[in-house]
Amino acid sequence: MLLSLDNNDWERSNVQDLIVDLVNALSAVKSLSEISCEMADEKQVIRMALSCLLSNQDIERCSFFIADDGGVLSNVTGISVIDQAGGEASVLRGTMSFRTGEGIVGAAAATGEMQYCRNCHEDEQFALGAGDGRMPGSIVCTPVFTLHRELIGVLNVSHSEPGFFTVWHMRLLQVFSNILGQLITNRRLFQQMEIQIASRTAELERLVEETRRLKDYYVSMSMQDQLTGLHNRRYFYDQVGLAFAQHNRYEYPFCLLMMDIDHFKSINDEYGHAFGDEVLITVADALKKLVRNTDILVRFGGEEFVIIFVNTGCDNGKTFAERIRNKIKSLKWRFADREVQLTMSIGLYCMVPQADKDNQQNDIDQIIHCADTALYRAKANGRDRVEVFDSKLNKVG
Ligand code: GH3
Ligand code: MG
Ligand code: MG
Repeated sequence: MLLSLDNNDWERSNVQDLIVDLVNALSAVKSLSEISCEMADEKQVIRMALSCLLSNQDIERCSFFIADDGGVLSNVTGISVIDQAGGEASVLRGTMSFRTGEGIVGAAAATGEMQYCRNCHEDEQFALGAGDGRMPGSIVCTPVFTLHRELIGVLNVSHSEPGFFTVWHMRLLQVFSNILGQLITNRRLFQQMEIQIASRTAELERLVEETRRLKDYYVSMSMQDQLTGLHNRRYFYDQVGLAFAQHNRYEYPFCLLMMDIDHFKSINDEYGHAFGDEVLITVADALKKLVRNTDILVRFGGEEFVIIFVNTGCDNGKTFAERIRNKIKSLKWRFADREVQLTMSIGLYCMVPQADKDNQQNDIDQIIHCADTALYRAKANGRDRVEVFDSKLNKVG
């Protein structure tokens, strides 16, 4: 097994042959450089590279032995001229493998140098395989490295004729192996990059989802009253547009109730602020039970609550308001050995479809103002009352 070539190799080639060889060599290198490193399968890349070599060179068989981490080289793919002619290339029969240093393939891996067996029939290490009719006459094995000089594997080309390979073949195979090494390096880098991109994309998606969740949480927190768990004034203004839209589009009526606990200050004064808080929580819970899911109930501030009963006419609105007033009046708390009760005043504004649109409020702050005016009247008329703002007369009715 040796590498040196005698000058007779050159004599075999005349100028015309050399030009043909040159064109073939350039074609092989060109088609190799056209293989995309984005392919998913490394074996596929190697197989295509072997095809480029066979289609453009007069060698008969080639295969590739890929090196594993344990220094074993196994043929991942092999291809012969017969396979090429038949169209579909087939994998070499059986899997062959060599340890580093074993056989001509292992020698190429161990030395990092190209190995040439000029006549396999005379080389004793090939004696065992001689009987199967597939014994090549000559073999060249070229190690293939990554750009960082890590061994990828060994390119193995053979011909049935002993002494077939010339210096020309050697040089071509050297160039071809270098480019193949670069191609595989690029493909591995590309794959690593894709894995990294995929993992970073997944991490980014997770973060986006987490951020969205946090945003939703903070938005909902910013619209919630911490003491009672009801929605707050911000939520009210966020949602009230829907009631208006339904009213404007379908002429759905709605009722707005402005509610205020009577003499609440004296509860705080007499029983303390903590007890006052407990009262507010109980009132809020009672209100929750008296509204539908579609209605809007908020703690508007302090001891004031607002409800919008959607799709509700004035008569029903009044009934609901009275129900609420009675419910609050029926609540009882204990403080030491005393029973505590309270009342609530309610101002009601009815938003109903009517011919005289000019006379109807269509601005939420004006509606709140009207309900507040009705509430003020309820307080003035002795508290524990429901008063309705009369939009036609533009006065409290
Ligand atoms: P009116 O019948 O005229 O409504 O009298 P009022 O005492 O209820 O009205 P006022 O506006 O004078 O007092 C409201 C009180 O509500 C004063 C305030 O300290 C108390 N308050 C507001 N927010 C809270 C709260 O979160 N917890 C407690 N405990 N008290 C609160
Ligand atoms: Mg008040
Ligand atoms: Mg009050």
